[in-house]
Formats: sequence, structure tokens, C-alpha cells
Amino acid sequence: MNSIAQNLFEIKKELPSEVKLVAVSKFHPVEAIEQAFAAGQDVFGENRPQEFEKKAQAFAGRGIEWHFIGHLQTNKLKMVLPYADMVESIDSMHLLEAVDEWGKKNGRVVPILLEMHVAAEETKQGLYEEEILDVLFRAGSFKNVRFCGLMGMATNTDVEEDVRADFGRISAFMGYLRDLFPEYSDFKELSIGMSGDWRIALDYGATIVRIGTAIFGERQY
Ligand SMILES: *Cc1c(COP(=O)(O)O)cnc(C)c1O
Repeated sequence: MNSIAQNLFEIKKELPSEVKLVAVSKFHPVEAIEQAFAAGQDVFGENRPQEFEKKAQAFAGRGIEWHFIGHLQTNKLKMVLPYADMVESIDSMHLLEAVDEWGKKNGRVVPILLEMHVAAEETKQGLYEEEILDVLFRAGSFKNVRFCGLMGMATNTDVEEDVRADFGRISAFMGYLRDLFPEYSDFKELSIGMSGDWRIALDYGATIVRIGTAIFGERQY
């Protein structure tokens, strides 16, 4: 098996330099993050609040950019928001309002992505197009979040056309929103693509890819 450094090297060879690589270190020990960091990787993603907090604290002051990418319950905000450089997974109005409220109380503006429901699976989290539109029409009333773009997960399938359809939909919607809200100059990130589909995501304008397994190997749950 390749080392973490080799895996990173292989991915970065193919990844355009303007696309941000979030190394998804969930379920892997801090030693794995340490190895990736030594190889020059300084953006990491985690999806569980407790683990996110623990790792962010362990690497405090090291210049790592932390993205939270999992479902976030409003009673866990204080484990995540003090350390998060970006919350990619805003998947409900309730969560958005709570994050804005936390920002107000703590004097922070939290950079966020709106997670869009694109995959065919019923279980996938996310906001529907109408909800995203509704939020953005009222964006001015959320003073303590910065709307930075969209995040989405394609259907978990080997059928490439289905993955392309999902990425195509989110990419088209992103284009539509940018035309509709040209004044939201921060709203430009499109976080799509994981270990199995990030090369495809590049065809659809990904500006952020979130890659775990292809860097760190299989997760031990
Ligand atoms: C786990 C996870 C990833 C990374 O998945 P891999 O297939 O291991 O690359 C990306 N995005 C989200 C939201 C995740 O939960």
C-alpha cells in the first residue's frame, strides 16, 4: 500500500492548483494527520463533532484549516464552531439559524456552504433547490454567516452517468445562483467530489474536493 505522502502526491499531480483539497481524516488517528501535514497538506475535514474538536485542539496553532463536513446537531455547535474555518454541511434552516445565532453571541462570522440534496438516496442530507433560493433571498438577514457556496454528494454508485447527472444538476444550479445573485461575490465555492468521483467532479467545476480513503486508506469503523 502507498504511504499517505505518496497518495497525496499522486492526487496533487492531477488536481488543478486552484482546486482546494480537503483531506478527510475522519476515523483516522492524529498520526495520520501528522503524516499528511508533514507532506504539505494543511486542509482537513472531519464529520463528527467530538472527533473534530479533539483533533482541532491537538493541532492548535499549527496553521491547519479545518472543514466540518458532517451532520451537525445544534446542541453540538460549541464543539465545532470555535475551530471550524468552514462548515460545509449546512443542511437545514434550523441549523443555519443556530449557526448565525452562535456567531452573533461570539462575535464571529462563520464561513459556510449550503449542502444541496442531489443524490438519489432518500437518506442523504441536504437542502432542496427551493430552500436554497429562499435562504439566499434572505441572506442579508444572516449577518453572522458568510455564504461561500454549495456542497453536494453524488449518489453512491459505480454508474458514471448517474454521478454525472448529480454533479451536472448541482453545477447548473450553482451557475444559476451566481447569475441571480451577482452581488454575493463570496458565493463561489462548489464542494463536490470524493475518493471515487473527484476526477469527474472536476468536469463540473469543483473548487473543493473532499478526499478521505484515497489518501488515508480504508476507515476502520
Ligand atoms: C467521508 C466523507 C468524504 C470522503 O469520502 P471518501 O470516499 O473516503 O473520499 C467526503 N465528504 C463527506 C461529506 C464525507 O462524509
